[in-house]
Amino acid sequence: MNFDFSEEQNLFADSVRRFAQANLADGALARAHNPRFPFDVAQQMSAQGLMGITIPAEDGGQGGTLMDAVIAIQEVAAVCPRSSDVVQFGNFGPIRTFAEYATPAQKQKWLPDLLAGRAVMSLGMSEPDAGSAVTDLKTTAKPDGLAYLVNGTKVFSTFSPDAALFLVYVRYGPGLGGIGSVIVERGAPGFAIGAPSSFMSGEEWCELHFENCRIPAENVLLGPEGFKKQMASFNVERLGNAARALALGRHAYEAARAHAKSREQFGRPLCEFQGLQWKFADMAIKLEGARLLLYRAAANADRGLPSAYETAVAKAACNQTGFEVANESIQIMGALGYSRETLVEYCMRRTRGWMIAGGSIEMLKNRIAEHIFDRRFEQRKRHADAAE
Ligand SMILES: Cc1cc2nc3c(=O)[nH]c(=O)nc-3n(C[C@H](O)[C@H](O)[C@H](O)COP(=O)(O)OP(=O)(O)OC[C@H]3O[C@@H](n4cnc5c(N)ncnc54)[C@H](O)[C@@H]3O)c2cc1C
Repeated sequence: MNFDFSEEQNLFADSVRRFAQANLADGALARAHNPRFPFDVAQQMSAQGLMGITIPAEDGGQGGTLMDAVIAIQEVAAVCPRSSDVVQFGNFGPIRTFAEYATPAQKQKWLPDLLAGRAVMSLGMSEPDAGSAVTDLKTTAKPDGLAYLVNGTKVFSTFSPDAALFLVYVRYGPGLGGIGSVIVERGAPGFAIGAPSSFMSGEEWCELHFENCRIPAENVLLGPEGFKKQMASFNVERLGNAARALALGRHAYEAARAHAKSREQFGRPLCEFQGLQWKFADMAIKLEGARLLLYRAAANADRGLPSAYETAVAKAACNQTGFEVANESIQIMGALGYSRETLVEYCMRRTRGWMIAGGSIEMLKNRIAEHIFDRRFEQRKRHADAAE
């Protein structure tokens, strides 16, 4: 067993760090407070080979590993937390599901713009009545001649104010087997995008309304029985979410560490107070532990052994750690940490959201408990109870 990066991984991390310091340090605070997708950053990252790291070279990607993409998130977030969203988009988000299951014609049509940072894709999964219980989704896709008619409403889709494309989970028929997905272009007939609302993080999302929205049959990504494939891809998305949560926690921790060395009270630097030293020790224990769990899940997935359990453990640990460490970093930095002059309060607000998004902590713990007891625990009300 070896806990160090390979020489290749170290070289890659160094190159991303240098890129981030040279191109993303200036404007990091402004970027964090701008809700719009940073297309300029996406285009710079594309030129640097940071989009499509795990997508095969024949599809326009880099043919790298998930671990590489995790490393890229870490190095970018250390300099500019908001820009790590671009690494997520280009490597872990719906783009990855798309690249995995799209037909050659679909890839040819849409991947070049996505990988070049000219277009962004949003995921339309959640609905007003289908959050954690995602299989309760009601949005339908019904065949109509050579086309499909999509009807329904989606909520909370990240990047929706800027997205040119939407990967939308739909129902072709009843039950789990009826679920699949389609690609809907902005501007499609019958597709209306509502006014932006804001998350606590400042990110914006819009309601997506489909009313007899006509899409050509070539826009079907996954037909009936596609749900399991979508969820397998979604596990990978979870690793990107976990990596960002941890990286933003680490960003806040480094800011607090620098502050504790330079800020003096009672004639001494803050780091000389034991009450604060123990906070740092606790934060380091959490960060190191969560990082090992994240690396295990990513490295095993790269070896062809993706595990829903390892991913759930890693995401829960990284989400909790990222938030707790960012929150504690605010405390250590006092009013400065609580102010928008630093990125620490931003890291706290962002990490809070990932405890809900992409599989809430509670849903992940349900998954972990099933592994522990080696059985499935039905979350749904039994039919007999439902009739009461
Ligand atoms: C920052 C952010 C970004 C997001 N981006 C997207 C996106 O791009 N696309 C998209 O489609 N959606 C997105 N979402 C929505 C996200 O997928 C949902 O918020 C998530 O699935 C939870 O659904 P809900 O918010 O409706 O909560 P609910 O499902 O209503 O759950 C409410 C609470 O009950 C708990 N709970 C529910 N069921 C159980 C259970 N069986 N056992 C224990 N606890 C349970 C939950 O954990 C939660 O704490 C985003 C959300 C956030 C916060």
